[in-house]
Amino acid sequence: VSVPVDANMFIPGSGEMSDLTRWKNWSETPLGPASQWPQSLVTALGVALSSKFPMLLLWGPELICFYNDAFKPSLGQDGKHPSILGLPLEKSWAALWHIIKPLYDQILSGEESTCQEDQLVPIFRNGMIEEAYWTFSHSAVYDESRKIAGILLTCSETTGKKIMARELEESNQLFKPAPGFRADGSFEGNIGSSGDFNQQVDSLKKAEASEQELKSIVLESPVGICIIDAFTLLCELVNQRFVAVAGKPFEAIIGHSYLDTFAEARPYHEKALAGVIKNGLPFYADEMELMLFRQGKEENIIVTFVYAPLKDIEARVRKVAIWVIENTTQEKARQDIRDSDERLRELNERLVIATEGTHMGIWDLDIATKTLVHSPRFAQIFGYPETTKLTTRSQMRAHVHPEDLQEIVENAFAEALQTGIYFYEARIFHLDKSLRWIRIRGKILFDENNIPERMLGTIIDITEARHAEQMRGRIAAIVESSDDAIISKTFEGIVTSWNKAAERIFGYAPEEMIGQSITKLIPQDRLEEEPRIIEGLKQGRRFDHFETKRITKDKKILDISLTISPVRDSSGKLIGAAKIARDITEQKKIEKLVKANEEKFRLLADSMPQFVWTGDHQGNLNYFNKTVYDYSGLTAAQVQAGAWIQIVHPEDRQENIKRWQHAVATGEDFLFEHRFQRHDGVYRWQLSRAVAQRDDKGQIQMWVGTSTDIDDIKRQEQQKDDFIRMASHELKTPVTTIKGYIQLLVSMQKEQQQTLQSAALFKVDKQVNKLTKLINDLLDLTRIETGGLQLEQRRYPISEVIHEVISDIGLVAGSHRIDLLLSDDPMVFVDKDRIEQVFVNLITNAIKYSPKADQVILKVYGQDDQVVIAITDFGIGISAGDEEKIFERFYRVEGKDEKTYPGFGIGLFIVREILELHGGKVWVSSQLNRGSTFYVSLPVSKNKSQ
Ligand code: ADP
Repeated sequence: VSVPVDANMFIPGSGEMSDLTRWKNWSETPLGPASQWPQSLVTALGVALSSKFPMLLLWGPELICFYNDAFKPSLGQDGKHPSILGLPLEKSWAALWHIIKPLYDQILSGEESTCQEDQLVPIFRNGMIEEAYWTFSHSAVYDESRKIAGILLTCSETTGKKIMARELEESNQLFKPAPGFRADGSFEGNIGSSGDFNQQVDSLKKAEASEQELKSIVLESPVGICIIDAFTLLCELVNQRFVAVAGKPFEAIIGHSYLDTFAEARPYHEKALAGVIKNGLPFYADEMELMLFRQGKEENIIVTFVYAPLKDIEARVRKVAIWVIENTTQEKARQDIRDSDERLRELNERLVIATEGTHMGIWDLDIATKTLVHSPRFAQIFGYPETTKLTTRSQMRAHVHPEDLQEIVENAFAEALQTGIYFYEARIFHLDKSLRWIRIRGKILFDENNIPERMLGTIIDITEARHAEQMRGRIAAIVESSDDAIISKTFEGIVTSWNKAAERIFGYAPEEMIGQSITKLIPQDRLEEEPRIIEGLKQGRRFDHFETKRITKDKKILDISLTISPVRDSSGKLIGAAKIARDITEQKKIEKLVKANEEKFRLLADSMPQFVWTGDHQGNLNYFNKTVYDYSGLTAAQVQAGAWIQIVHPEDRQENIKRWQHAVATGEDFLFEHRFQRHDGVYRWQLSRAVAQRDDKGQIQMWVGTSTDIDDIKRQEQQKDDFIRMASHELKTPVTTIKGYIQLLVSMQKEQQQTLQSAALFKVDKQVNKLTKLINDLLDLTRIETGGLQLEQRRYPISEVIHEVISDIGLVAGSHRIDLLLSDDPMVFVDKDRIEQVFVNLITNAIKYSPKADQVILKVYGQDDQVVIAITDFGIGISAGDEEKIFERFYRVEGKDEKTYPGFGIGLFIVREILELHGGKVWVSSQLNRGSTFYVSLPVSKNKSQ
């Protein structure tokens, strides 16, 4: 059933209930169509629907229900709303009718308006019947004929308060107080719970009466009163005055912990309260100033208050009564302040709005008190959230960089006091320790006596600007000090900046170039380059190390490497180009030279019959001359890929790698004989040698190596060795035979006293002996080389060996005296013949190479587990360079006296080989023309077996 909208448009309001009322089809109700309602109903309905207080309007003898939006919650979530709209009260509250009816009859009969506080009117809501308390005020509504036509019910639910009060009452039963105030304001309950029954009933009555009395005293008192439980500190009772002083809603106090409710004032009262509860003595505070959040705002108030303990019969403190009077009497003054605050705030807000876009903070400093008022941005600039208030100047100054505080801030302030104008830029630290720059501007306001009163000003964070400035400065410095020409130009090719290096390289001073076309620098034949570059730049392209030629003021052509990048303005628009020009003329020259040198080296290396190769500092081979490729038949790629080792004979590879790694690791020269495979598969011996190339600091830069074909030499050597072996072998038999016959002849001659022949035979014998020694040496040599030298070792005292040698040689060497100094005589485990051969060789050499001397000294001494025999002569000596070489086979020191000393250079070689077979050593220390000492060391034999 619909009703024309405009029909009920007179019903006021915009809420849900106004709508529902307008849209309801009233013709179905006893009230009839809305258009025909009496004016009184329309007026009353208007009042109800536009009220913010919960209201219920009952109209006509049937008490038809109307209600407003504020009333809805009282009907519960799924209760009577909206069904009771337009229903008679009897139907809508059928269950309660018996309670309500008399009330309404009373009103309808014309009695005064009534007010009922905390009436229990259970209602059905939230799916159940709930206990609810209400404070009602009913007033009759009269119609045009001055008869009561309806009832307007204003109500508020007091369920919470009622339940609280009831609980308080219940708990009060515990200690049935008979309270009395003492002169000091403390409150004492002296309760009899013992004694006879009558007395108890009596005191119970009395207690009830005084409880009631207490409540009325409390609730009506002009003094703020609050009763809290001594154990829980929950606030149990509180009067209107206390609520006013507290400046917090009643609900925020009652039933809550006193400490939590006044958390902001804890420092003032927590201890005092605890003391009262503990000691049972009242606490007074006279005109104490404290801060409370009243109506959500920080307020400093002055109060006088008493904490009075309420004790039970056992004198335990059960409750604490708090009495409070506010002394902040300058209510008017405060209002004034609030008003002016308000004005200031408005002004401030306007300023804030005006400045917010500029990221500027605003501040207002009271010069006398140094207190500060500021906009939210101000706090942000110091790194706080914008809600933070810095209330004093010192709070702000605590952030200023210590170095800037005196120098900049204080000075600026002192100056401001003189000039009235405050200005500075200084560094501050944020809470997170980050460094920022601020700029402060301010103006002093003077009072009528010309005394500085306030200072108003702005603050702005200039960190970014500072950084940008510093960056610009740095960049400018870099540009100026650069070795490369740095030039900027427009897209039209007009030079806009020109640094020192540009002047140096091209010869033009800035004033000769800035504003001029860049083409001044471009040689005729390259002029077409410029448009091409500009085209690229306009597309945002960058040119990196573009090599070209440019011309200087004195017409010199330079090789130039250009790096050109497009330049954009802060909005990203291309506006020109920055150009870095490097003079590479010199570099080009060097490059050419290097190339030429490299070419030369390559030609040289390639034309050599030897292999030439190089390796990096880690020993990786990276270059081979052409000879290597020609020889091996491998391609450059194959050899360089590491395949070079494939050329080396498989039997030599392992040792080759080992030696190469050793050389690379130690930096020692690499020297190795190995076989390389030729392209036809034949292996040939090569002698390779590589030397590390070092830089100034001795660091290895690279390795340079060569390999020389020694295959033919090797073969010849082999042939020679073979020949010697064969010849000495073949010679031995005939010489031995000759020797036998000579000895036979000598003995025969001796018998026949034929001195002439005997002298001749003696000479022949001597020559044959020499020949025999030579053959024996050669045989030894070949034995050593083929590994055929066998030892027959036994234990002897060293002296036995040496004595034998000396007596043998002494016979032949009449020219020299042989002195023996024996300081030790250990056992040695040796092949006696061979060791004798060693000493014979050394002593004969000592004699042979000291023709002008007449003495050879032998010293024998122990050293660690060795015995050392030193043979010293006073002869020609050996130069340092030859000391090692003389032990090589066939090595003889070359000199002008060469012919004087016959020999083959085999003796010392054999000496060394024999000693090495014995685990011994030989070395020499000598001075040219002074003499030599040859040292022999042999291991001392400790037991029979060795
Ligand atoms: P040689 O048969 O030439 O003596 P060795 O092998 O015994 O051969 O010696 C090699 C070379 O060492 C000699 O040619 C000589 O130059 C040098 N030499 C050996 N002993 C001495 C010494 N006591 N004083 C100086 N030079 C010596």
